Amino acid sequence: MEERVVIVGAGQAGGELSAGLRKQGYQGRIVLLGDEPHPPYQRPPLSKGFLRGKVALTDLYLKPLATYERFGIELRLGTRVEAIDRSTRELALQDGSRLGYDKLVLATGGRARRLRLRGEETTHLENLFSVRSISDIEAMRAKFVAGSRLVLIGGGYVGLEVAAVAVELGLRVTVLEAAPRLLARVTGPEVSSFIEQLHRERGVDLRLGCEVQGFELDEAQRNVRGVRIACHGAAERLDADLVLVGIGLVPNTELAAAAGLAVDDGIVVDECACTADPNILAIGDCANQPSTFTGGRIRLESVPNAIEHARVAAATLMGKREPYAAIPWFWSDQYGLKLQMVGLSAGYERCVTRGSAGGKEFSAFYLAGRRVIAADVIGRPADFMAAKRLVASRAEVDVARLGDAAVPLQSLAA
Ligand SMILES: Cc1cc2nc3c(=O)[nH]c(=O)nc-3n(C[C@H](O)[C@H](O)[C@H](O)COP(=O)(O)OP(=O)(O)OC[C@H]3O[C@@H](n4cnc5c(N)ncnc54)[C@H](O)[C@@H]3O)c2cc1C
Repeated sequence: MEERVVIVGAGQAGGELSAGLRKQGYQGRIVLLGDEPHPPYQRPPLSKGFLRGKVALTDLYLKPLATYERFGIELRLGTRVEAIDRSTRELALQDGSRLGYDKLVLATGGRARRLRLRGEETTHLENLFSVRSISDIEAMRAKFVAGSRLVLIGGGYVGLEVAAVAVELGLRVTVLEAAPRLLARVTGPEVSSFIEQLHRERGVDLRLGCEVQGFELDEAQRNVRGVRIACHGAAERLDADLVLVGIGLVPNTELAAAAGLAVDDGIVVDECACTADPNILAIGDCANQPSTFTGGRIRLESVPNAIEHARVAAATLMGKREPYAAIPWFWSDQYGLKLQMVGLSAGYERCVTRGSAGGKEFSAFYLAGRRVIAADVIGRPADFMAAKRLVASRAEVDVARLGDAAVPLQSLAA
């Protein structure tokens, strides 16, 4: 009988894996199951061009539908997997049917973290949104109009991208961030203050160290009309026409956990994307893997990670061993500026900068000893290419020369 690989989750990682397997010459059946109504699509434009109305729906799709047919990939959309039976190697689908597998790949991604206020759910509110899927954007579009007052809870990259689009579309935007500076977990203070300035200059009302205390609802109790906040101890009420919650992602690990697979901030896999069950792999946002880069374990949420993880899994399924070794990197677009990040700055000892924040081009290099472990680059693409090489090489650098913009970065590795 023909071998069958079943992939759960038709997102970036699942889509890349299905096509990658065929490109590597996989001869068996490939079934790609997704609970959304769309074929695999890119999420980055959701908070950028798609929200702005500049990117068409079909341009989000990773591949045209016809490609899946041509590749002999059985794409089943609107199909939710409810359970995995490891003893019979079968999946229970939402429609009550069962589907057998020889190899199973979990590419279930994650969902937007919900806001709970005083322990209460807020999901029933009609003008409260999150940004994870096409349907999230479609739901908010009618309210995303000039003059509307948008209160954005959470100042992460995705939230800040939405703030930038909102400003450009003429909404009045307030961003509420609980931490004392923006992006505090992922960047140094220099980059935080650059981004804060970028948004303030465009009229965003940015509140740092700010806690949401509660909502005031309309008579029907269906829409938020006001957001009660406390900033540095001072209470205030903000008017709102729409509220967006951007407080992070929860990995979709429930299927794996219920099947007895190890879960620890993601489905636990080895460097070849394998769980402890030899027939089950996990990739992308939902997977927690060893990192040759940090020496510990890591769960990444980025397109480059989804692509690389899909490549590693395709190799594993083809009987090869190609451990994950890529350096983490990520990008964000705000107000036409490209922000690019490479490496992980956690635990850095000092930060060296090039360029000028005022000139809207700026690079920050994070060092542990004399090694560059991460860099944030804004509007200096050549720096980014060189920074990627510096981080990957783990070479020691001359710190004074690193800070001297006249010295070509390429010449720095000692
Ligand atoms: C608004 C936004 C902007 C972003 N911008 C950037 C960016 O600029 N740069 C960058 O690098 N990354 C960005 N990302 C992150 C990037 O899109 C993700 O890291 C990437 O999509 C992860 O791919 P994935 O396949 O692991 O998960 P996903 O793309 O989330 O796909 C998982 C799929 O599995 C489905 N699924 C889950 N459970 C089941 C089930 N039981 N049965 C069937 N289907 C199921 C989900 O509905 C989903 O369709 C952004 C993300 C968002 C939301």
